[in-house]
Amino acid sequence: MKIAVIGTGYVGLVTGTCFAETGNNVICVDIDQEKLRKLRAGTVTIYEPGLEVLFERNIKEGRLHFTDDLKSAVEHAQIIFLALPTPPQEDGSADLQYVLNVARDIAPLMTGYKVLVNKSTVPVGTADKVRAIVQPLAKVEFDVVSNPEFLREGAAVEDFMKPERVVVGTRSPRAKALMEELYKPFVMSGNPVIFMDERSSELTKYAANSFLATKISFMNEVAQLCERVGADVDMVRRGIGTDSRIGKRFIFAGVGYGGSCFPKDVKALNYTSQEYGYRFRILESVLDVNKVQKDLLVEKVKAFFQGNLKGKKLAVWGLAFKPNTDDIREAPALGIIADLQGLGAEITAFDPVAMPLVERYHPELKIRYATGMYSAAQGADALLIITEWNEFRTPDFDQLATNLTQRALFDGRNIYEPEQVAGHGLYYASIGRTTIDGRK
Ligand code: NAD
Repeated sequence: MKIAVIGTGYVGLVTGTCFAETGNNVICVDIDQEKLRKLRAGTVTIYEPGLEVLFERNIKEGRLHFTDDLKSAVEHAQIIFLALPTPPQEDGSADLQYVLNVARDIAPLMTGYKVLVNKSTVPVGTADKVRAIVQPLAKVEFDVVSNPEFLREGAAVEDFMKPERVVVGTRSPRAKALMEELYKPFVMSGNPVIFMDERSSELTKYAANSFLATKISFMNEVAQLCERVGADVDMVRRGIGTDSRIGKRFIFAGVGYGGSCFPKDVKALNYTSQEYGYRFRILESVLDVNKVQKDLLVEKVKAFFQGNLKGKKLAVWGLAFKPNTDDIREAPALGIIADLQGLGAEITAFDPVAMPLVERYHPELKIRYATGMYSAAQGADALLIITEWNEFRTPDFDQLATNLTQRALFDGRNIYEPEQVAGHGLYYASIGRTTIDGRK
């Protein structure tokens, strides 16, 4: 099939590449010339495990192309995916200008029957809005379909190639047949393509992300309680996670959820709810809890230094909002670093892939970047772990005890066993577990 993907970011590039991988001919469109230059030169513009191999293969096979020419892409494609940003506005609502403007640009360029697919995360009613914009400008028949994306950054290729489910919102039999054919190779193992109306499909995406954020905030509340009653949140997690009704995933306590999706999607669903005159009380709490949780690690550091962080040297491991990605949008590390700097601390950070992006997009954070995890800790008073990259999981604690002047470790992701760390002569504070001082 002939496909166009408008917007070649985290979702668009993976979508385009994976559709090419199953034999489709795909044109990816973007307005960012630097990005296009790199893509055309054969460079993958995001860090995403497994993407490079597919990207190179499909370019070589002539199935994957990159352009800024919307007209040729629209003419080429029968199915046009919009993978455009929908960033949060001041009031929490999703900014639809990118999606609606591109829909307006596409409409007069359509030369035959086209299916316009919203892959961006968009509020309920957006398919109707897109239809209303395109209709008066279109000279041909078209359908607007909602097809939210559920890939996880860091595992995006695997998620796209083997989705647990594909959700498609359309009431058009013609569009349904095309979408069914397109997704067939991705669900050979029997996972479902779930067809529904557009509004239910749009809401499904927000409900999924908001539910996952709720699990995280719930567990962070349990962690707060654990600290007060002397329980261990990790034990509680294991205890409840084995119940298949609860599940093992997304119940890890930590420094709060971040990233380009959960914060904005929870806010946007809360906004939609208010718009329709309903107070979604759980979402309000999810947002509150996440705000509080982001301050928790800073409070622990402050308490250790008796409230005085002036001139303290702190090492930070992990800047990306989660492991296996270079995405730093709404990364908890950024807020934590800003808060610590505001209190007078000096920060040296190490992240396996995200340092260049932080340096580029957050010059206001005066971070010193280290070449490795141990060199970041060398001469620092204390170390904070904010992103649980695999390579941080089994460090040489003796070396850390030598490197860190005050031998203190603050673990925002609970990746170590407290007794073990303390056994190496370190002070160890984590989330929802008893702090142990092993320095004596
Ligand atoms: P992104 O910022 O990485 O990519 C968006 C791309 O669109 C950029 O490359 C930008 O240059 C391009 N663009 C902007 N205006 C354009 C225009 N007029 N014409 C062509 N290209 C244009 O964003 P993303 O993370 O890929 O997210 C896209 C959408 O997918 C959002 O709605 C997001 O909520 C949703 N989503 C994201 C994820 C994720 O993990 N990142 C997962 C599921 C859904």
